[in-house]
Amino acid sequence: MFVDIANIYVKAGDGGNGKVSFHREKYVAAGGPDGGDGGRGGNIVFKVDPNLSTLADFRYKRKYIAESGQAGGADRCNGKSAPDLVLSVPKGTLIKEKETGRIIADISDDEPVIIAKGGKGGWGNSHFATPTRQVPKFAKSGVPGEALDLILELKLLADVGLIGFPNVGKSTFISVVSEAKPKIANYHFTTLVPTLGVVSAFEGKSFVMADIPGIIEGASEGVGLGHEFLRHVERCRLLVHVIDVAGSEGRDPIDDFNKINSELVNFSEELAKREQIIVANKCDLADEETLKTVREYFESKGFKYFECMAAIAEGTNDVIKYIATALDRLPPIVKYEPEEAPQEDFTVQKARDFTLTVEDGVYIIEAPWLLKILETVDPDDYESLQYFQRVLHSSGIIDALVTAGVKEGDTVSVYDIEFDYVP
Ligand code: GDP
Ligand code: MG
Repeated sequence: MFVDIANIYVKAGDGGNGKVSFHREKYVAAGGPDGGDGGRGGNIVFKVDPNLSTLADFRYKRKYIAESGQAGGADRCNGKSAPDLVLSVPKGTLIKEKETGRIIADISDDEPVIIAKGGKGGWGNSHFATPTRQVPKFAKSGVPGEALDLILELKLLADVGLIGFPNVGKSTFISVVSEAKPKIANYHFTTLVPTLGVVSAFEGKSFVMADIPGIIEGASEGVGLGHEFLRHVERCRLLVHVIDVAGSEGRDPIDDFNKINSELVNFSEELAKREQIIVANKCDLADEETLKTVREYFESKGFKYFECMAAIAEGTNDVIKYIATALDRLPPIVKYEPEEAPQEDFTVQKARDFTLTVEDGVYIIEAPWLLKILETVDPDDYESLQYFQRVLHSSGIIDALVTAGVKEGDTVSVYDIEFDYVP
């Protein structure tokens, strides 16, 4: 089954908890704190598997949860970090955030991409020992891993897309110019899945062609196979518009051409502007008069126009040669850039969720939203620390510390940042 869209839930692993432990040894009365840190939770990673051509696997399994990091142990033994959970997808899969629809990543090259980060492990109590606090009886919990609802959307990577009404000979065309073997027959919607074929042109030049089935009048409103497959031509650098020049099904090839183009406009203005060349197929069935009329129509509109009989591979070579040359001057295949998540301004006064616990005189603040901010805070940079201070004020954290009785010089601990409280 060709599946090119899927909704899934992913959750990266939680960080392991830090350990509270004290050194024990015969004849040593009170050992120092030796609780180890928790391990990191596994990330959710996506990568291309060149052997996959659909997202079918994601129809059956929809939840992907990476393992949590191991808890810290005694004897300064840090917990093991969990392995990443690597999900394989076909080349050209867009990963979108369901909530906003924004593109998080375009998985179309060999680089694996981390989509949800595993949580950091919590610190064990050995981290909290200071000259004045020799027996810290607390450790930190691990940070939760990121969780996301995702939409996976396959947008095939092809240099050239074959478009046209059903039965004009698109599948026949791709089958004679490449190794692709789509189903071919004299009825509509024979081809139900987009098919890719590698075309070898000349002098070692080759390109990828896609046979896109099912575009008919009304496709952009869901008629026929709908615009389901139009997304697979979106990345194409050149569109090859195949027409049945003989009008062998009683339709008018020029009319067909215009109808398909208005479907393209409805789907995407940008796609409609993509360069198109015309391949007039089934010339064997057309009379001279018709051939002339159609040819003149397209040439007068400035289109590159080819006549062929795909069924016997007559004229197809010229098309291929032209395409190979045209691709040299056309921009490369579109790769979608990740869209930034909307940035919230955390210095705006607003009560936010956090937890404050006081352990052995240490004020421990935890809030998942703070983690994002900490990633950007540079403790050696004055401006950056000022910003962090403002965030602590605006979110109500400073007020809560004061209410809890914080005094000048007390330690405030926010994940892996610790600082002395200054009123
Ligand atoms: P698609 O729906 O556009 O993919 O069309 P197909 O490739 O499945 O072809 C539809 C029908 O047209 C098939 O029966 C083909 O054998 C036939 N066909 C393809 N090319 C030619 C051609 O050049 N001449 C003739 N007479 N028939 C052709
Ligand atoms: Mg077909």
